[in-house]
Amino acid sequence: MSMIRFCDLRARNAPRADAIKDAVARVVDRGLYVLDAEVSHFEKDWSAYCLASHCVGVASGLDALTLILRAAKIGPGDEVIVPSNTYVATWLAVSAVGALPVAAEPDLKTMNICAATVSPLVNRRTKAILPVHLYGREAPIDELRQFHLPIYVDACQGHGLTAVGDAAAFSFYPTKNLGALGDGGAVVTDNDVMADQVRLMRNYGQRARYICDVRGINSRLDEVQAAILETKLHHLDWDNSQRVALAKRYLHALAGIPSIILPEDDVANVWHQFVIRVKNRDDFRVDLSNHDVETGCHYPVPPHLQGAYYIKGLRYPIAEEIAETCVSLPIGPELDWDDQTKIIDAIKAVV
Ligand SMILES: *Cc1c(COP(=O)(O)O)cnc(C)c1O
Repeated sequence: MSMIRFCDLRARNAPRADAIKDAVARVVDRGLYVLDAEVSHFEKDWSAYCLASHCVGVASGLDALTLILRAAKIGPGDEVIVPSNTYVATWLAVSAVGALPVAAEPDLKTMNICAATVSPLVNRRTKAILPVHLYGREAPIDELRQFHLPIYVDACQGHGLTAVGDAAAFSFYPTKNLGALGDGGAVVTDNDVMADQVRLMRNYGQRARYICDVRGINSRLDEVQAAILETKLHHLDWDNSQRVALAKRYLHALAGIPSIILPEDDVANVWHQFVIRVKNRDDFRVDLSNHDVETGCHYPVPPHLQGAYYIKGLRYPIAEEIAETCVSLPIGPELDWDDQTKIIDAIKAVV
């Protein structure tokens, strides 16, 4: 039997390979490769898809987050509240503008931050809250509004959710629900000033060519990636519906197994990852791999225990508990139902 892959990008893109090649050929033939019609077209369609007024294409999800914070004039001396359990990029964006990432613990059930954990951290220096639609599950934006702080959303795992707060950052890294064939990102917002500032800063701070108004950076979405994303956008709803169907099937099939904690299914979710929690996670993953099932782990070490942020004695017990027990099961839209049955059978055999 061959290994069931955790994430098979070749298989995921195969049904759209012809359309992708046509899109690339169109850009090759047109001969305009940076900030032209493909990017504007995709920006228009992506903002409409997110039910927002503006979209600005940038080079990555990390840049999208960083440019939002810069546009909001957040910097040294400021604090931004981030989850203790997230991909490290959420923290890195805050550090990139010279501000301090202040970690809020997630609710163990939802794995998202919430008002109860954010509340004790809010003070005069707090300039924004940066929740994450972690694993594709919508973060509780409305609940976090009670602090009357700007809410900037790390939506890098939330393609298909329309909760964008005051601005949202998307990544189009190839494994995301909407993935390019390389790096890409976008800022989505209803705020005209935010959109204008990000647009200015992604292109050296120039409004007119060779005239630099502010000290911007080079962070542009390529024409080639924009053209690919445009064709793939037509399939996003279908892909997400596959993810939802696979998630429902896991939830049903794995319910009642005492050693497995399943994800909650009570709010909007585009199931970027299907993350269960088990004791002896590493053994569990090895056992599944011996049954030809590859799994993922998001994430094995929380940011505060990594070299970049390590402070002796600083503990976030809930983030650590999640990091020690989390396992991501295959849930890409390329996964077929027979393979999912094999995964479910393998899990039942190893628990
Ligand atoms: C992927 C991801 C990012 C970073 O996106 P890049 O495009 O790789 O820079 C940030 N935050 C979260 C939660 C992500 O999943």
